[in-house]
Amino acid sequence: MSEHPSRPLNSASLATAVTEVGRRLDARIVTANLPVHRASTVLFDTLEQAAAEGRAVAAGTLHASTYGTAGTPTTYALMDALAAIEGAGHACRAALMPSGLAAISVALLAVVKTGDHVLMSDSVYGPARNFAQTMLKGLGVETTFHDPALDAAGLSALIRPNTRVIYLESPGSYTFEIQDVPAICSMARARGVITMIDNAWASPVFARPFDWGVDMSILPLTKYWSGHADVLMGAVVVREALWPALWSAVRTLGICVGGDDAFLILRGLRTADVRMRRHEQSGFEVARWLEARPEVRRVLHPGLPSHPGHALWKRDFLGASGLFSFELDPAAFADPSPEGIERGLAALCERRRLFRIGYSWGGYESLMIPGRLGGIRTVHPWQGGPLVRVHIGLEAPADLIADLEAGLAALRAAR
Ligand SMILES: *Cc1c(COP(=O)(O)O)cnc(C)c1O
Repeated sequence: MSEHPSRPLNSASLATAVTEVGRRLDARIVTANLPVHRASTVLFDTLEQAAAEGRAVAAGTLHASTYGTAGTPTTYALMDALAAIEGAGHACRAALMPSGLAAISVALLAVVKTGDHVLMSDSVYGPARNFAQTMLKGLGVETTFHDPALDAAGLSALIRPNTRVIYLESPGSYTFEIQDVPAICSMARARGVITMIDNAWASPVFARPFDWGVDMSILPLTKYWSGHADVLMGAVVVREALWPALWSAVRTLGICVGGDDAFLILRGLRTADVRMRRHEQSGFEVARWLEARPEVRRVLHPGLPSHPGHALWKRDFLGASGLFSFELDPAAFADPSPEGIERGLAALCERRRLFRIGYSWGGYESLMIPGRLGGIRTVHPWQGGPLVRVHIGLEAPADLIADLEAGLAALRAAR
C-alpha cells in the first residue's frame, strides 16, 4: 500500500495500483466529527485474528466486527450514544434498525415465540398493530389490544400464563392517551412479563423510559433524532439482560444500517436538546391558540391541563414535543355532511403555505394530516368529531398561527 501520496507506485500495472492507493487513514488529523465508515468488508492481518473476532461477534461483544453487517466504527459510535442517552443511569445497550417500524418488529421477534401472548395498547402506531395482526399471528403469537386508559390492576387482569410482552406507546398515536407506565412496569416485572415502549413522541429529551422501569425502548430515529426529514432509521435500546436475545435476532435477520445514515443521526442528536425545546415551546403556543378557537372542540395535547392524562404527563415527562391533534366541531363546517366535512378538511390542509401534508414528523418543518382512525382502533373506535394531527416545526409560532387562522377560515367557507 502506498504510504505517502508522492511515493512511487509499487505496481507496474495501473489496474493493480488503483486498488492499492488512497487507502491509508491519516490518524494524526483529529476532526470534531468522526469519519464515516462505509463498509462491507472488514480486513484482518491473521487468520487467528479473524477467528477471534468472529467469536466476539457471536458473543455480542460491543465493537467486534467481522463484516459490515456486524458493525463499523460509525455504527458503534451511534449505538454507544443511544445506549448512553436513552439508557442514562441504567446498564443498557442499543441496536440499530433500518426504520422505526423495523425496530418494532425486530424487538418483538427477539423475545416472542410460538404460543406466546402479547398485550398491546389500542392507540399504538398503526403499523405496529398490523405487524401483530399479520406476522405475529402467522407465527402463532396472539395479541390482545387493551384500552390505553387501563391502569396497572386492569392490565394485570388481562395477563395470561403465556403473556410474554406488554407493548406500550405513551402518549398514543393520534389521540395522545398517557398511560401509567411506571405502575404498569412494576406490575409486569412482578408477573415476569417484559415491557416495551415506543418512545417516538417525547424522545429521550423529554422521557426516560428506563427510569419508569421498561425493559425495551423503541426509538424511531427517523423522527426527532434525525430532525431534518432526510433519513430513515430506528433503534431498540434494552437492559443488558435482554441484549443476547436482541443481538441474536439482529444477526439472524441480517438487520443493519449504512454508515452515511448513522452519521446523519449522530449529527441530528447534537442539536436534539435545543430543537426539542423549540418544538415544545412553539407547540404549546399553537395548542393554546387552537384551544381558544370556536372551530376547535378539543386539543389533544398532554401538556394542556384540559387533557385527561395531564397529571400523569406532569409526573412522568420532562416536557412535550411538537406533535398533537385537535378535534374539530362539525358545526364549524358550512356543510356538516360527510362530503362537506371532507371538503372542509381539504380546504384546511391543502393550502400548502407553512403546514404541508405529510405522515411523518419530527423534522424542522410543520406538517398536518387528518387522523383517520377507522381500522386502527378496536377497543374504542373514535367517536369524536373530525381529527387533525399537527407537527409544529421550527418556524416562528406567530407565522404558524396566522397560517392556521387562514386555514380555519377556508375550512369554514368550504362547501
Ligand atoms: C413514525 C413512527 C414509527 C416508525 O418509524 P419509521 O422510521 O417511519 O418506520 C414508529 N412509531 C411511531 C409512534 C411513529 O410515529
